[in-house]
Amino acid sequence: MIDDPEAFLARLRKPTAAEQLAEREAAAAWVPELTTMPMPDFPYRWPHPLGGTARFSCPLGCGWYHDERPDLDAAAQPLVVPLDPDRIEDALTAQADARAEALCARVERAVADHFEQAHPGR
Ligand SMILES: [Zn+2]
Repeated sequence: MIDDPEAFLARLRKPTAAEQLAEREAAAAWVPELTTMPMPDFPYRWPHPLGGTARFSCPLGCGWYHDERPDLDAAAQPLVVPLDPDRIEDALTAQADARAEALCARVERAVADHFEQAHPGR
């Protein structure tokens, strides 16, 4: 029962000190979700033949990893460059973005497959 609508609306707009405190505590207790896209390591140093390898390790630290070779990926795909010089940069950016997206998709797929096999339910 709302007997004073204006007071009620004022309470809706402005959280009480207790509500603000509860909100801050909830924010502090928040733990980020496990990401499916781990940060890569670069286990081999140039001029090692595998120098461009980006290694995505299991976020749970079980020792599993997925290697990607972005340097070979770039070389393997034909570069399509438009004749219009104003569009070259956009075309190169679009192709780099597409490669990055494909790499992310492969890594996320590999991590998801690994989780299904090694850490079901996580
Ligand atoms: Zn694992």
